[in-house]
Amino acid sequence: MAARKHSRQRDSIKEFLMTREDHPTADVIYRNVRQRSPSISLGTVYRNLTLLAQDGEISRLNLGDGVDRFDGDTSPHYHLLCEKCGGVVDLEMEDISSVLEKAAAHFDGHVAGHVTYFYGTCGRCTEPEGLGAGLPGGTGLPEDTALPEGSGA
Ligand code: ZN
Ligand code: MN
Repeated sequence: MAARKHSRQRDSIKEFLMTREDHPTADVIYRNVRQRSPSISLGTVYRNLTLLAQDGEISRLNLGDGVDRFDGDTSPHYHLLCEKCGGVVDLEMEDISSVLEKAAAHFDGHVAGHVTYFYGTCGRCTEPEGLGAGLPGGTGLPEDTALPEGSGA
C-alpha cells in the first residue's frame, strides 16, 4: 500500500481536529481551517476528511441525525448525542463488544461488527438553568473558535 502524498492541508485539518473534543462537522472544520488556509475549499476539506478517516487517522461518526461528525480520538469509545443542544460527547463506560457474541449466538452467519451510539441529554443541558444550556457544541467552545496563533506547522 503506497503511502499517501504529504498534504499540508490534510495536516492542518488533522491538527485542528486534535484541538477539539466536540466532534465537529465538516462545515465547522472548514470554517475554522479556512482562517489559516484561506484558499482551502469545502470540497478539499471533505475529501481530506474522507482520506484521513480511511487511513484510520481520525474517526467519522454517524449518530443517526443525518450529519457526519469527526473525532481526532480514534481509540475505541462511545458517544452520546444530546437531543437538546445537538452536541456529541464522549461516554466513559466499559467496552460492550461482547454484544457481538450475543448477536452471533443464534445466527448461522458471521457477525463482524456493530455500531452503537447513545442519545439523551448532555450534562450541561441537564443542569437546571445550566450556564450555556441549549447552546450548540456541547463543550462550551464556540463553533468558530480559531486556532491559536503559531500552533502547529
Ligand atoms: Zn446538550
Ligand atoms: Mn469521541
